[in-house]
Amino acid sequence: MSTKTKGTLVVVSGFSGAGKGTIMKGLMEKYGDNFALSVSATTRSPRPGEIEGVHYFFKTKEEFENMIANGELVEYAAYVNSYYGTPKSYVDQQLEAGKNVILEIEMQGAFQVKEKFPETVLLFVTTPSATELRNRLVGRGTETPEVIEARLSQACRESMRMHEYDYLIINDDLEKCIDSVNSMIMNESLGNKELNCEYRMSSNQEFIDKMKQELNEFWKGDN
Ligand code: 5GP
Repeated sequence: MSTKTKGTLVVVSGFSGAGKGTIMKGLMEKYGDNFALSVSATTRSPRPGEIEGVHYFFKTKEEFENMIANGELVEYAAYVNSYYGTPKSYVDQQLEAGKNVILEIEMQGAFQVKEKFPETVLLFVTTPSATELRNRLVGRGTETPEVIEARLSQACRESMRMHEYDYLIINDDLEKCIDSVNSMIMNESLGNKELNCEYRMSSNQEFIDKMKQELNEFWKGDN
């Protein structure tokens, strides 16, 4: 029997447009009792339908920089011209209460968290192919062509380090993904890592190499 009383800290990252947000929403609807989902602070403008305190805490640049200066963030990163960061107090409280806490954050932040808390479980979400990723970004219809291009170049950069994550989630079937993410985290938190073998990054090397190659074709340079 495990004597662990603190919750497990889980980071979910992935290419912009891979469906992290949708998976997280489904996960919370279906298995919400198992998890606490952290709400980030950001300096980007709200998208239509986004609610303050639910999707993000929307901050000015000055407010965000004050949060950094006051040590209120677990991690933060600049991503496509905006700041994003994880408020510390909620994460600490929920972990202490024994909840598994999920941070849905990008890569720079993920590695900061892993360095500070090496027990953190890192999950990476991808579409089944790079073409599918581009199609989803275009289909979303919320970003300008320039932002889509920047996000694809960002995805190309991120693919270079995706193998440093613990687990890979290929988002081809939403319901299956939601169930897999739930069982993956529960197996980790209950000390049954060996049941997660098929999702290990090391078990998916061929897929990773293919994705890197495909994304490289969308590379438009640093922007
Ligand atoms: P979006 O603008 O599409 O909501 O998010 C852009 C990226 O920022 C996504 O990859 C998202 O996971 C990431 N992100 C959201 N919140 C945080 C955070 O608190 N810290 C970091 N480092 N990244 C975040």
